[in-house]
Amino acid sequence: MKIRDRYAPSPTGLQHIGGVRTALFNYLFARSRGGEFILRLEDTDRVRYDQAYERNLYDTFAWLGIQWDEGPDRGGPSAPYAQSERTALYRQYAGELVQSGRAYYCFCTGERLERIRLEREAAHSGDTGYDRRCRGISPEEAAGRAAAGEAHTVRLKIPLGETTRFRDHLLGEIEWKNDDVNPDPVLLKSDGFPTYHLANVVDDHLMEISHVLRAQEWLSSTPLHVIMYRSFGWTPPEFCHLPMVMGQDGKKLSKRHGATSIDEFRRQGCLAEALINYVALLGASYEEGKDIYTLHELEGRFSLDKLNKAPAVFDYKKLEWYNGQHIRLKSDGELAALCLHYAVDAGLFGAAGAEPTAEQRLIFVKAMALVRERLSFLSEAPAKIAYLFGEPEMPAAEEFIPRKADLARAVELLRLGRDFTRPLAASPDDEAAEIFIKEQAEKNAVKLGDLLMPLRVAITGARVSLPLFGSLRILGAERALARVERALEHLSRQLERSS
Ligand code: GLU
Repeated sequence: MKIRDRYAPSPTGLQHIGGVRTALFNYLFARSRGGEFILRLEDTDRVRYDQAYERNLYDTFAWLGIQWDEGPDRGGPSAPYAQSERTALYRQYAGELVQSGRAYYCFCTGERLERIRLEREAAHSGDTGYDRRCRGISPEEAAGRAAAGEAHTVRLKIPLGETTRFRDHLLGEIEWKNDDVNPDPVLLKSDGFPTYHLANVVDDHLMEISHVLRAQEWLSSTPLHVIMYRSFGWTPPEFCHLPMVMGQDGKKLSKRHGATSIDEFRRQGCLAEALINYVALLGASYEEGKDIYTLHELEGRFSLDKLNKAPAVFDYKKLEWYNGQHIRLKSDGELAALCLHYAVDAGLFGAAGAEPTAEQRLIFVKAMALVRERLSFLSEAPAKIAYLFGEPEMPAAEEFIPRKADLARAVELLRLGRDFTRPLAASPDDEAAEIFIKEQAEKNAVKLGDLLMPLRVAITGARVSLPLFGSLRILGAERALARVERALEHLSRQLERSS
């Protein structure tokens, strides 16, 4: 069987973790089986539709590097792939169901439907949905009324007294009494637009979708869809309803838990690779002892048997960890390119928005080697490396003082550090710098930590910083010495004042 699956979003919101998980699993399933992955826009809800959401859809998946084989933007044998361009088809198929007696015209007005809803509510009746009033109208009468222009919808005639069965890949056999299925739902609205159910089933059939992988929240619609396939005389696709994605409190992941839209993660400096890696693990397990996967590796490993039944829990801390891991896989040049716009926006190279000069660009790339291990998100880079571009603010004198020492001692230590600044900045690498400075500490009978601490504060502006030796190499001897001198002046003034 040719595997064909699809991602069928309604562009009524920004792409979020749940949607991307559905798309990714469909993509991986198709790729793992040599099949085809299709994008279909379910854009029949014209009230909630917004072009910005459609743009966001394309933008998100271009960024993620996930490409469909067929879709509104690529075309394909089942074009068009936007439901708003297929309405004539839905009308045709709804008409066929009416012809075959499997669907009927309903002339009930919105007011009537609302009235019965309120009456039932007042009577505390458990009944919901349509009361099937128009089901009894003879086809001839119905056709006449419709031809005379009376407004109507088309409703599915659910075969009563039967049971609908289907198999879900993950959940097993599912059966549902037809009498409990949404009573005769609307397929075609009075404006001629299809409902989700009609458009979805017609398209999955016409687009020859073999597998429907979708979120578990759609499970309750599936018995109805299966009834529709049978009413048309079509074979239903295979179904696999994916485990829900929850927040850590066990409730469905939503904005209450934090960022959910891909845009937000992206702005924060999440890598597409990390997001894919983490999202691919939401509800699936691949191999023991391996956490980091590329999209390509996932394509080779995915299978429906690796899905978990239990809901997946979205853990922001874990995503952060994955992001850090993927950041570590980037070269200096790649990481610099990824971090650049955060630095430009933050004003790292002058005024906010200023592009780097050639020299700044060089420093920026070198800085990546220092900061790479210390980033969870790209957006953190500018603040961490700012001291390599502008002069750091002068820290308070106490910051320079090692434990069990005083200000006078800090000045002594920094003077000593000044003597070693030039050779340290000239060392070819950390190892050489370390050998050199250890020797000097020994010769001068000072603890290495005590020697380096005031120097670090003078150079980087903080006790906790990126690696000192690397910073010295990047700054160069002259800039570094100027900072040490400035700090010494500052400390000496303090010392005078306190004596
Ligand atoms: N348009 C539906 C959605 O927004 C599609 C559900 C399905 O995959 O059948 O998720």
